[in-house]
Amino acid sequence: NGHQDSEEKFTGFSDKLQKEVDVIKKEFTISKEVLQKITNHFVSELDKGLSKKGGNIPMIPGWVLDFPTGDETGDYLAIDLGGTNLRVVLVKLRGNRKFDTTQSKYSLPENIRTATSDELFTFIADCLKKFVQQEFPNGVSEPLPLGFTFSYPASQNSINEGILQRWTKGFDIKGMEGKDVVPMLQDAIKHFHVPIEVVSLINDTTGTLVASMYTDSETKMGLIFGTGCNGAYYDVVGAIPKLEGRVDTDVNDDTPMAINCEYGAFDNEHLVLPRTKYDIQIDKESPRPGQQSFEKMISGYYLGEVLRLILLDLASKGLILKDQDLENLKKPFILDTSFPAEVEEDPFEHLPNVKVLVKKFLNLDVNLEERQLIRCLAELIGERSSRLSICGIAAICKKRGYKTAHCAADGSVFNKYPGFKERAAKGLRDLFEWSDDQEDPIIIVPAEDGSGAGAAIIAALTQARLKKGLS
Ligand code: BGC
Ligand code: MG
Repeated sequence: NGHQDSEEKFTGFSDKLQKEVDVIKKEFTISKEVLQKITNHFVSELDKGLSKKGGNIPMIPGWVLDFPTGDETGDYLAIDLGGTNLRVVLVKLRGNRKFDTTQSKYSLPENIRTATSDELFTFIADCLKKFVQQEFPNGVSEPLPLGFTFSYPASQNSINEGILQRWTKGFDIKGMEGKDVVPMLQDAIKHFHVPIEVVSLINDTTGTLVASMYTDSETKMGLIFGTGCNGAYYDVVGAIPKLEGRVDTDVNDDTPMAINCEYGAFDNEHLVLPRTKYDIQIDKESPRPGQQSFEKMISGYYLGEVLRLILLDLASKGLILKDQDLENLKKPFILDTSFPAEVEEDPFEHLPNVKVLVKKFLNLDVNLEERQLIRCLAELIGERSSRLSICGIAAICKKRGYKTAHCAADGSVFNKYPGFKERAAKGLRDLFEWSDDQEDPIIIVPAEDGSGAGAAIIAALTQARLKKGLS
């Protein structure tokens, strides 16, 4: 009856469904006042994270103690362990704010999220070996310096250390939490006889911050809106009480320090975020309940899942998908973020693409009303994500007193989710109450490749410090 549908005109939801939609709309809409309230609490939580006592947001000192000048040079390897791929990058820093990269992507073996650390590092070392053989067929005279981008919360007492605090984004490899991942990588590399020396470990946000600053000195933060969400910025050592007694004498109060906020953990106490019953359910059924409250409402790993739960809820109330086999809809995480993203991209009034998508992902036949509903929900979820996303940016600006800023962003949601950039910019305008005739003083700009180039630049900065005998 696809043909019939296209003749039909959508005149609104049934009364019962409309009532439910109204409730959901209300719960997913983030007003200016709520944005402001969240941001104010966010600022105090950032401060708390830097205090000796600490708070929900880890605020991890990243031990990048210099700003990049754009003149760093040299050849470096970087690895980027993301959620779906392992990327190996050869970065040639040319100075003058320029660099070139060559990269290979290796898809992570299935079930790696729950594999063993041995399997993980063997896989990484194996990919590195292949890459080095391919890029340096005649061998190398000295071990290649490598920057390791590890996009999970990892405590650091120095730039060459990363003690995994806890897995996020659905990763659950046993026995790694509480341990330093740098020796694990270095050992695997040694075992496979790959001529590489691990120089530094960084978070993807720290890399994004530094890589973007290398090319644009107005950069004030590095942000990821992808499978997970997080941000990094530069503070000064003197403003980080928890560093007291942990820095060497060549470091003083004014020395810059990159901070990996790990603000996906914002509001784990559930004081200000307007969580819905769907968010609460996602959290409860995740491998780490109570963690990453902010991230679970806005990042790519969860957006499709929120949509799935709403549909399942409405179906169980008998309002949609009557007499259909809900087997697929009942499978957790069957909808990745590409689903709501593509739903929002259907340009036609009758949403024919939504019909195809739902068939493909869920093996369900949806009528016009159901398609309109799915579209409406995707918009609500996408809009909520982008509006909440800017609270971290706003909080860092407020904390540091930035009146203008280039906020460098990367990640699949930022780059691929339709409307995210516009909605985020609008969110900032609402929040800060900028007037319409004013140009936005704080803007979100596309970042440089932080996990590749950023890791390389930081490795270069690290080597330069070591040469000078600095900590
Ligand atoms: C991790 C962060 C990371 C972010 C974006 C979060 O789940 O905890 O370390 O920066 O995802 O990749
Ligand atoms: Mg990544």
